[in-house]
Amino acid sequence: MTPFARSILDWYDKYGRKQLPWQQDKTAYKVWLSEIMLQQTQVATVIPYFERFLDHFPTVESLASAPQDEVLHLWTGLGYYARARNLHKAAKVVVEQYGGEFPLSLEEMNALPGVGRSTAAAVLSSVHKLPHAILDGNVKRTLARSFAVEGWPGQKKVENQLWQIAEQHTPSEDPDKYNQAMMDMGAMVCTRSRPKCILCPVESLCVANKQGNTLDYPGKKPKKTKPEKETWFVILKHKDELWLAQRPQTGIWGGLFCFPESATADITQTLEAQGVLESMIVSRQTDIAFRHTFSHYHLDITPIVVTLNTLPTMVMEDSKGLWYNISNPEKVGLAAPVKQLIDTLQRH
Ligand code: SF4
Repeated sequence: MTPFARSILDWYDKYGRKQLPWQQDKTAYKVWLSEIMLQQTQVATVIPYFERFLDHFPTVESLASAPQDEVLHLWTGLGYYARARNLHKAAKVVVEQYGGEFPLSLEEMNALPGVGRSTAAAVLSSVHKLPHAILDGNVKRTLARSFAVEGWPGQKKVENQLWQIAEQHTPSEDPDKYNQAMMDMGAMVCTRSRPKCILCPVESLCVANKQGNTLDYPGKKPKKTKPEKETWFVILKHKDELWLAQRPQTGIWGGLFCFPESATADITQTLEAQGVLESMIVSRQTDIAFRHTFSHYHLDITPIVVTLNTLPTMVMEDSKGLWYNISNPEKVGLAAPVKQLIDTLQRH
């Protein structure tokens, strides 16, 4: 047994939870039920649900033969209803394929609907004392800190590394107690934001504790980088007026008023489309680009102000728009960066 496992087991004898309802008169059915309920839900919330459930469905057969509505009704308030549907399906599989006895192999247990590798291992180690490692959220956190495993556990590489460590330390002697202790440790001692390192049985072995950076583990989910797009706003200006076109109803800024856009810095085509002739242009000024961020991407906008001496006759028939007077503004919906640019132009 590794020194890590020894310390965890000694701690369990003194402080581990031994009075939980599913720990009394253990059966695979009870432990499996509790494990499913405990996924994403805390022990204190689970206890009354577990007891009510067991009153209604004392055996896997009674659960399998119940109407799904009744199962969902008893689950009401626990959330993540896919768990209840899978629970019901798994009960049917256990009854129909395994004659009402939960399978003893990790693979078969893992193949039941809603039962992942860690849940399968938790049931088999708890009920049959089989030395299978578990790796739920609490265990991941404790192991990541104790062995300074870098990276986000949602990444396969990091998760595999944690599984390896979990397997290496799961003892063949008392694996039931060890696994329960690891869950308790994560819930009671090595907690997410304030680990109680001075009370921890593996304090002297814990690498993150030695390094003094326990909260750096486990690594956070990397932020997705948003794609970046570019556009050029062509601001046609005549005296106090700016040309705004109404955007189609669908797509970004649907139905709002916006400056004509060009996909490149060469705005010749956009000018032509708006009926602007070279002779009408007094000046052309490229302003500093700025970024507008949507939920799915960043849009870098470069405004080009084209000052005109005459109002062009707009040639594009489908280009619904208006000359917007900045001293006497129309009440129309403006795209946010358009509003921002108009406010800037008003100040100058
Ligand atoms: S010493 Fe602290 S960080 Fe390390 S396992 Fe124990 S509680 Fe967690």
